[in-house]
Amino acid sequence: MKIDVLTIFPEFFREVFDFGIIRRARIAKIVEINIHDIRSFTTDKHRMTDDRPFGGGDGMVMKCEPIFNAIEKIVGTAERENYPAGTRVVLLSPQGKVFKQSAAKKFADEAKHVILICGRYEGVDERVNDALVTDEVSIGDYVLSGGEPAAVVLADAIVRLLPNALGSETSAVNDSFTNENLLDCPHYTRPPDFRGMKVPEVLLNGNHAEIERWRKEKALEKTKKIRKDLLIKE
Ligand code: SAH
Repeated sequence: MKIDVLTIFPEFFREVFDFGIIRRARIAKIVEINIHDIRSFTTDKHRMTDDRPFGGGDGMVMKCEPIFNAIEKIVGTAERENYPAGTRVVLLSPQGKVFKQSAAKKFADEAKHVILICGRYEGVDERVNDALVTDEVSIGDYVLSGGEPAAVVLADAIVRLLPNALGSETSAVNDSFTNENLLDCPHYTRPPDFRGMKVPEVLLNGNHAEIERWRKEKALEKTKKIRKDLLIKE
């Protein structure tokens, strides 16, 4: 998979993809991640990436021209119907569809090239959304000052689901939202007794069927308590 990030703050990404699973996936060439400065796609003298909003009001709006130029260069065309198969152009936006594990899985399974557009200020000129974007995605019902943290969230959630990205120390099969939409069960490691707090006995007895049953029960218990909404079928 190839991930291209469009941002006016490329420095933001200097080290975020250099740790753990994502770093390993990059080294193993499971994913290639490139960061692009939107400013380098400007053509005007002042290299402007934003401008005042039509209709007046506060704040600035990100201009469409540099973003169109960037997509043309990175995808090969700025015509959405001509994007190569497996191309997803994502606009990070609080107005988008809320990102879920199921969406991460779909990207991991189906996308070959993901372009993440990070907005700033009041957002991005709507013509970017109208003409270029295949997916408008939000990471939750709150407003960030920029799309960069959201781009990191998407990239991380997607890359760890790519084939062979997870090492033996991590497994996705029992992750939250994966198995029947349950939260994950609680985990413990040594020591078995820490300041008087004991690890549940069942985990120490080596009876795998019983452990499985306990884990399932705990996952269900926690989901019921904290995220009842997950148990209601959509
Ligand atoms: N005026 C806009 C918010 C702009 S916030 C509105 O109310 O809809 C500036 C940028 O931050 C956005 O363009 C977007 O790229 C990013 N952003 C903010 N909140 C986000 C969220 N919940 N999910 C994804 N991106 C978000």
